[in-house]
Amino acid sequence: MRLKKIVFLLAIPLFISTHAAFSQGYKVKTIVIDAGHGGPKSGAAGSYSLEKNVALKVALKLGKKFEEEMPDVKILYTRKTDIDVEFHKRAALANDNKADIFISIHCNSMPDRRVITGYTKGRNGTKTPKYAYVKNTSTSGTETFVAGSHRLNEQDAAIRENADIKLEKNYKENYDGYDPNDPETFIILSLFKNTFRDKSLKLARLIQNAYTDDSKRVNRGVKEQGLLILQRCGMPAVLTEIGFISNPNEEDYMNSAEGQDEIVNSIYKAVKTYKKETEIN
Ligand SMILES: [Zn+2]
Repeated sequence: MRLKKIVFLLAIPLFISTHAAFSQGYKVKTIVIDAGHGGPKSGAAGSYSLEKNVALKVALKLGKKFEEEMPDVKILYTRKTDIDVEFHKRAALANDNKADIFISIHCNSMPDRRVITGYTKGRNGTKTPKYAYVKNTSTSGTETFVAGSHRLNEQDAAIRENADIKLEKNYKENYDGYDPNDPETFIILSLFKNTFRDKSLKLARLIQNAYTDDSKRVNRGVKEQGLLILQRCGMPAVLTEIGFISNPNEEDYMNSAEGQDEIVNSIYKAVKTYKKETEIN
């Protein structure tokens, strides 16, 4: 274990003990809204729209809703325009401002499906399949992630959503030696978030229930994965995938004003309930 990692581990209890979420009178006073991706990192692509733009529109609408309905709560945005913001800066904004909740908005996507289109015959009669890749357009629904220790075969979202980091300069320096292929890094970062696990799960469940109850969306559930953006946040944090941009119906839904309003209302309602149920007087 490198020295840097040890220092990082030692700093965790210190940080946590000073954090509002652990002191008496927990109140939701500051919320950070994070629109996924941005700038050259466009995230997943639909047939006519990009994840980064859909996420930004929904994030801005969500912030506006909070500003109108909960004027006492301070709303901070990791980005308000189409710019690239590195993961560690997004989390730092939340940590530095002692935010009480972090909500990251993303769109889901299914990878292309490989199909066999025929066979070529080898010299001694062996058949070799020929493949083609077709778009996987049928998968739909919402899912919300919290940071979690994950098994290596369960990190699809982690691979997809953490991919941006490899495009960042000096990423190993900025993420304490983070290497996407090194499970030890995940374990160390996971220690950080476990403290906020219960509250994160509560918020994630409320968001998923609101999508399903209010808008009859397909519920793919609450999942724990090694998502770096969440693991860096010293407060309850969720990443919500608001629909599949690879599905034409959901792409239309997420690009429509009505769809965006429904998503915003669901997340708002979930936070309102979360606030009521977790605040200690
Ligand atoms: Zn994303």
